[in-house]
Amino acid sequence: MNRRCLYCRQVFQPNRYHPQQRVCSQPACQSQRRSDYHRQKIAFDPVYQQVCLDSPRKWRKTHPDYWKKYRQDHPRQVERNRRKQRLRNQKRRLSNLANNTLAPSQMPGVESLISPISCKQHPFGVAPAAGL
Ligand SMILES: [Zn+2]
Repeated sequence: MNRRCLYCRQVFQPNRYHPQQRVCSQPACQSQRRSDYHRQKIAFDPVYQQVCLDSPRKWRKTHPDYWKKYRQDHPRQVERNRRKQRLRNQKRRLSNLANNTLAPSQMPGVESLISPISCKQHPFGVAPAAGL
């Protein structure tokens, strides 16, 4: 019985030991399947997530100089990573900013509920409209 691969949409023959197989055996599709599984598992399984965090930590402990040496031997990679990280930080900042400033305007009627002074701008200890 033939089936269509979830990723490449090509028709394939499921392995006879895995009749439920939904992804063909091409390396690209298998790698995609594994990374999707990994991402989902990390999101929903706290034990698995902890193991995935601890594993590189342990490795770094047993190989303390690896990354130091790598950075010394690959200055171009270091510069490239620095540049990319700067972009990632910038992107995250912008998206945080967008989330904080665009949200009210995207919900009609909400503006009137928000006081012109944000709560962060109130002097510490002075609650607005405390009524005492
Ligand atoms: Zn495929």
